[in-house]
Amino acid sequence: MAAYTPMIQQYLKIKAEYQDAFLFFRLGDFYEMFFEDALRAAQELEITLTSREGGTEERIPMCGVPYHSAPTYIERLIEKGYKVAICEQTEDPTQAKGIVRREVIQLITPGTVMEGRSLHEKENNYLATVTHFSDGTYGFAYADLSTGESRVTLLPAKEEEVLNEISVLGAKEVVISADLDEGLQKKMRDRNVLAISYEEQTGLDEAYSTLTEDLNQDKFKVTVARLFNYLHRTQKRSLTHLQPVTTYQVHQYMKIDYYSKHNLELTETIRSKGKKGSLLWLLDETKTAMGGRLLKQWVDRPRIDREEIERRLSVTGQFMNAYFERKELQEGLKEVYDLERLAGRIAFGNVNARDLRQLLRSLQQIPYLHEILSRTQGEETIDLARKLDYCEEIVDLLEQSIVDNPPISIKEGNIIRDGFNEQLDQYRDASRNGKSWIAQLEREERDRTGIRSLKIGYNRVFGYYIEITRANLHLLKEGQYERKQTLANAERFITPELKEKEALILEAEEKCGELEYELFSEIRDRIKEQIPRLQALAKVVSEMDVLQSFAEVSEERKYVKPEFSDNREILIEEGRHPVVEKVLDSQEYVPNSCKMNGDREILLITGPNMSGKSTYMRQVALTAILAQIGCYVPATKAVLPVFDQVFTRIGAADDLVSGQSTFMVEMLEAKNAIANATQDSLILFDEIGRGTSTYDGMALAQAIIEHVHNWIGSKTLFSTHYHELTVLEDELDRLHNVHVSAIEHQGKVVFLHKIKEGPADKSYGIHVAELAGLPKELIIRANEILTSLEQAKIEEPVPAMPDGTSEVNEAVAPSSGTAQLSFFAEPVKAKKQEFSGKEKNVIEKIRELDILDLTPLQAINVLYELQKKI
Ligand code: ADP
Repeated sequence: MAAYTPMIQQYLKIKAEYQDAFLFFRLGDFYEMFFEDALRAAQELEITLTSREGGTEERIPMCGVPYHSAPTYIERLIEKGYKVAICEQTEDPTQAKGIVRREVIQLITPGTVMEGRSLHEKENNYLATVTHFSDGTYGFAYADLSTGESRVTLLPAKEEEVLNEISVLGAKEVVISADLDEGLQKKMRDRNVLAISYEEQTGLDEAYSTLTEDLNQDKFKVTVARLFNYLHRTQKRSLTHLQPVTTYQVHQYMKIDYYSKHNLELTETIRSKGKKGSLLWLLDETKTAMGGRLLKQWVDRPRIDREEIERRLSVTGQFMNAYFERKELQEGLKEVYDLERLAGRIAFGNVNARDLRQLLRSLQQIPYLHEILSRTQGEETIDLARKLDYCEEIVDLLEQSIVDNPPISIKEGNIIRDGFNEQLDQYRDASRNGKSWIAQLEREERDRTGIRSLKIGYNRVFGYYIEITRANLHLLKEGQYERKQTLANAERFITPELKEKEALILEAEEKCGELEYELFSEIRDRIKEQIPRLQALAKVVSEMDVLQSFAEVSEERKYVKPEFSDNREILIEEGRHPVVEKVLDSQEYVPNSCKMNGDREILLITGPNMSGKSTYMRQVALTAILAQIGCYVPATKAVLPVFDQVFTRIGAADDLVSGQSTFMVEMLEAKNAIANATQDSLILFDEIGRGTSTYDGMALAQAIIEHVHNWIGSKTLFSTHYHELTVLEDELDRLHNVHVSAIEHQGKVVFLHKIKEGPADKSYGIHVAELAGLPKELIIRANEILTSLEQAKIEEPVPAMPDGTSEVNEAVAPSSGTAQLSFFAEPVKAKKQEFSGKEKNVIEKIRELDILDLTPLQAINVLYELQKKI
C-alpha cells in the first residue's frame, strides 16, 4: 500500500468500503476507474482501457468516462444489475492542502435509481426487503425511491409467498440479511431480481419515527428499518419525500400467483416479454405517467372488496356516460407532469427551474380538472373531484418567482422574476444601468472621434474594450485610450472609466447569480415542505386517469358493467377474449358464453387443437380480473362471483430458462392450485398431463379433476385431449362436458371457435388424417384400431348438414361409463355414497396420499395394495 501514490492510496481506501460496486472516482472532468473495476468496466461499457503510474513498478489499469456523459454509462451498468458508487471531490482543489478530499456521495443500485433510462415512465421501480423471523414467517417491505411510496406486510412461512410478492412488484433489488437461505436467494434471481444487497442494521432511526408511527408490530418495524437503513446508507441524503409506511395484507387482493400472472399475460406477453399484447397494453389509455403506473399496480393486484370494486365501476360508468367531459379531461391530464417523481427529485435536490415551471403548469390544470369532473353526473366522480387539492401556496409562490422560460442551469441566473426580491432587483438595476451607460459611451465616443465603426465589445479575458479598425486608427489622438490587444485588422483599447463601470457590472452580475441560486434553493425548500400534499394530489390524479382509461377502452370495445353474484354463479353471455378480440378485429371474433354454478363447477373442454379451448378459458379468467380491477368486461352480460384467487396451468410450458422440465413446471403449477384454491377460486387447467406418457398423464389428469371436484369445489375449466376423461361426467355430479366445434367445408377443417355442450367427437383425429389425404386403407385400419381400443358400441354416423358441410365435432352421447381404457376401470365414487368399513379404510388411505409426490410406479403399487384390501 505504502508504495502507491497518495491518490491511489486514497482510492484504495474508499474502494475497500464499496467492494460490490464500481467506484466512479472523480478526477477533474472525468470519473476514473482503476484495477479490477477498470478491467471489468472496459469490457462491460466497451471503453478504452489505459493505465497510469501509481507509484509501483507495474502500471495500474485505468479507464474513465467524461463527467458530463456519466449518466448513460451508469445506467448501462445498473441495467446489468451492478451498483455504482459516485465518489466526488468534496473540497475546492485550489484550497486543498495535499490531496483533495474525496467522498462517496451516493451509491446507485438497481432498486434506487432516481432518473434516467432504466426508470420507466409507466412502471414503478421497487426495492424490496425480506426478513426471515425465527418463527418461520417473513417480513416483507418495499419502496419506490423515485415516488416515495413504501409498504410493509407479514407473510406466512412459505418461500413461494415471498417470491410471489417479489414478482408481483417486479422488484429490481432485494435487501436481506446475509444469513437468509441461499436457495431462496437463488430463486429470487430466477424471478428477475437484478441485485441482492445486504443490510444487517435493523434498529429504526429516530429520523423515521413519523413515517413509521402507525406500525404496531415489532416485525413491521424491523423489516422497515432494514429497508430505510439501506436507503439511508446508499443515498446519503435527505429522504424527506418518503411517505408514511402503510401496512397491507396479501389477502386483501385477488391472488394471482407468479405462473398464472405470466400465463394470462396480464402485464407482459409470454413470447416477447414486452407489454404489447398484454392486458395492460389493451387497457392503457392513460395520459399521465402516474396513471400508467397506477394502472399497472391495479392490474397486478385486483381487489376482492365489493365496495371498492363497485366504486371504481361507478366512476368508470360515469366517465363512459360523459363523453365530452372525458375528452376534455384527457386533454387536461396531458398537461400534468409526473408529480410523484417530481416530488422525489425536489426532495433529492435535483430539480431545476424548468421542472418547477412544469410543476406550476401541472398545478394550474387542477382547478380545470375539478371543473370538468363536477360537470359529470356522478356522485363517485364528484367525490373524486373534491379530493383535488389546488395547492394554492405552491402556485402563488411559483407564479411570482420563476420566469416563464428559465434556462436549464440553476447557477447562471435568469431564473427569478423581477419584483420577487428587492435586493435582486437592485443588483439587476446596477447591471442594466451599467450596460446602458456603456451603450451611451459608445455613441459618445463615435461622435467625439468621428469613427462610425467604433464599437464597445466584451470578452471573458479582457472584459469591456473599445475596438477600432486599423483603417481608422489614424483618427485617434495619441494617449486618448490605453492599448490592450492587437488583432489582425483592429486594435482594442480600454479607459479607466470603462474599467470602473465594468467592475460594477460584473460584481452586480455575479451577485445576481449567487442571489438567484440562493432564492431558487429557498423556493425549492418551501415546496419541499409541501411534498405530502403533492403526493396526495398525485394519487387522486392518477386514479382519475386510470378510471377514464377504463371508460375509454370499455366504450370503444363495447364492454358491459359486470354484476356480482352471492351464490358463486358465473353467467357470461357472448363473452370475448379482450386481447385476442382486439388483435383479430372484432368482426372475426366468435363470442362464447359461460355458465357455471353450484351444479356446474367443472367444465371439461374437449376439441381439436387450435379450436379455441385455451382462448375460451383465458377469456373467463380475464373477464373476472377486469371486473375486479373496476373495468367493464367484454360480453353482453356478465354475472360473476368475486374470486379470491385465480390459478392457471396453461399451454406449452416455456419455463426452460429456469431449467425446470416442462412436466415439472406443470406439476408445480397444479400443486400450487390444489394446495391453495378454495371454493371461491377460479382454476384453469389446460391440457394437464400432456408433458408425460399417456397413461401417466391421463391418470394424473383424472386424479386432479376428482380431487378438485370432491375436495375443493373451485370453479374449474379443464381442457384435455384425453377423450377418455369425458365419461367422468357420469361419475362426478358437478362436472359437465363442453366442446369446441369444427366443421368440414369443401374438404377443409374450419374451426368455428364455438363452445357447445357435450363432449367432442372422439374420432376427430382420424378425420383430420383423412382430410390430409392419408391412404384410405390406412384410415379404415385406424378406425378399426380405435374401435377395438374403445371396446364400446359404435357411434352414429356423422350427420350431414343442409349446406353440404358436415359437423365433425357434433356432440355424441357419452359412451357407457367404462368406455375408457381398462386402466381406469374403477371410477372413484362420489362423496355422498355409503361405504363399508373396509372401503372407508381404503378411502382414508387414498385421501392421505400425496399424489403429486408419487412416481407412476409407486402409484401403481399403491393401487395394487389398495385393490387387495377390497
Ligand atoms: P386450443 O387451445 O384449442 O389449441 P387456442 O385457444 O390456442 O386453441 O386458439 C387457437 C387460435 O384460434 C387463437 O390463436 C385465435 O386466433 C383463434 N381463436 C380462438 N378462439 C377464437 C374465437 N372465439 N374467435 C375467433 N378466433 C378464435
